Amino acid sequence: MRKPLSAEETLYRLGLALLPVFFFAAVFVAFSGQELLGWMPPCWVHERTGLYCPGCGATRAVVALARLHLVESFCYHPFIPYTALIYGLFLIWETLRRRFAVLHPFPIFPCIVAGIVLLVLQCVWKNAAVLNGWNPFFVL
Ligand SMILES: [Zn+2]
Repeated sequence: MRKPLSAEETLYRLGLALLPVFFFAAVFVAFSGQELLGWMPPCWVHERTGLYCPGCGATRAVVALARLHLVESFCYHPFIPYTALIYGLFLIWETLRRRFAVLHPFPIFPCIVAGIVLLVLQCVWKNAAVLNGWNPFFVL
């Protein structure tokens, strides 16, 4: 009977399998970004309340990231470049760990917690900025 895969092994295999999908999706988004933004419906929460939901800015952040505009992507939605960074670090870390067997497993749980905290904080920041008349997207 085969031993079940660990969470790291499952995520690593999934991450490697999805790498070409993300690459070609990024190329597609980079070249059709403005049109892509036109296809997306406006945010239901923002349209009705004027407040930002936790996902507001994510599509624009993905388009900016696909075009390698990192600062712009971070300003729209910091969770998006954070997730891309953690994804890349995870794949590199786990590849090195398998090849050299010297690193401990990638700290997935702290990264997930940090991502959730970042998601909540950016939402709080954007809504606080709107309520105070500040720019919720920093320099954009
Ligand atoms: Zn929204």
